[in-house]
Amino acid sequence: MSGNYDHIKRANDDYAASFDRGGKPIPPAKQAAVLTCMDARIMPAEALGFELGDVHVIRNAGGRASDDAIRSLVISHKLLGTKEFYVIHHTDCGMGMFDQATMETLLESSLNTATPGADGWTDPGGDDGSQEGRFIKWLTFSDAAEAVTEDVTRIRNHKLVPGRIPVYGFIYDVDTGKLAEIEAASAAGRAR
Ligand SMILES: [Zn+2]
Repeated sequence: MSGNYDHIKRANDDYAASFDRGGKPIPPAKQAAVLTCMDARIMPAEALGFELGDVHVIRNAGGRASDDAIRSLVISHKLLGTKEFYVIHHTDCGMGMFDQATMETLLESSLNTATPGADGWTDPGGDDGSQEGRFIKWLTFSDAAEAVTEDVTRIRNHKLVPGRIPVYGFIYDVDTGKLAEIEAASAAGRAR
């Protein structure tokens, strides 16, 4: 086996051997849901002071309010009782490093990992490229504050999200660990 396979099996054996936090209920104890980016430099529970069982964390590339992120948020409130939503984007997000057209072109060239450079992305090429990338909305953005405001606004205005739920917008700094509230986003997400 390669990669992290052995590591994961061994690490989990240790984890499970001393695990003593089972038996918790499904609804998050702190009644909150966090939507954030999949970026490996963010450990949401750790950064926000939550423990196992406290909050829902929904993650995708960019922490965007995609239809699927909203699906999870709606389930989070409607069936599991959360009462506040936090949308957390971050500094140095990879989603600001490409746009829709770039992604489509790279995927048409090949499925191999492309590399970023001063002149944009370079694809190594291959014989497995596909035009399927054209059918996916990659939800890229160039300004994190604008994007988080857009996402908070979309959630706020969604017909399946009740107005009583406050939706807050933040940007997390991956170099300092600090969270900065984006006033425009939180204002847009205010409960009503
Ligand atoms: Zn990101």
